[in-house]
Amino acid sequence: MSGAIAVLSGPGGVGKGTLVAALRHRLPRWSVAVSATTRASREGERDGVDYHFVSDAEFDRLIADGELLEWATFGGNRYGTLWRSVRDPLSQDRCVLLELEVRGALAVRKEFPDASLIFLHPPSLDTLTSRLRQRGTDDDRRVAERMALAEWELAQADAFDHHVTNDDLEAAAAQIVRILGDAADP
Ligand code: 5GP
Repeated sequence: MSGAIAVLSGPGGVGKGTLVAALRHRLPRWSVAVSATTRASREGERDGVDYHFVSDAEFDRLIADGELLEWATFGGNRYGTLWRSVRDPLSQDRCVLLELEVRGALAVRKEFPDASLIFLHPPSLDTLTSRLRQRGTDDDRRVAERMALAEWELAQADAFDHHVTNDDLEAAAAQIVRILGDAADP
């Protein structure tokens, strides 16, 4: 018997990364899949832990060699799920948690119809805009573009199995731990 697959998704800026960091040590049966990306590493990020940071040419090779389950462009960079990051834990009877933008989550559903899709909602659109602004990495035009994308992403929420609102980190983390517990032991 192999383990379960779950995807945590939601609009950019909603706080998926922070939540996954908070969950990491609370889910002994789950592996968090490490994606490949062409974006530069941010301070404190480690290659092979947060992402596999790869060149454009290496990303092209991963696509050509069929090593990616899905990939998407986000904010001018490419991100992709490595097949091995899903297959390896499953073959060891472990469960896999993926943290992906919305198109990636929907692509995983196509490959794995039984995957549990969790949508992380912002408390409100205003909160999302201010989170995107607070990041300080985007100018006004980029914030507007990301908001337009976020509205499209929010409109896809109906396709997801579970809905969590990220107004309190601890409460949201506890809710996800419960969802994943049920997914691992249906
Ligand atoms: P960030 O640059 O902030 O780490 O990630 C940007 C976006 O890319 C986030 O929404 C994150 O969930 C998403 N992402 C990370 N890895 C992957 C992946 O392998 N595939 C897809 N489709 N999205 C990803």
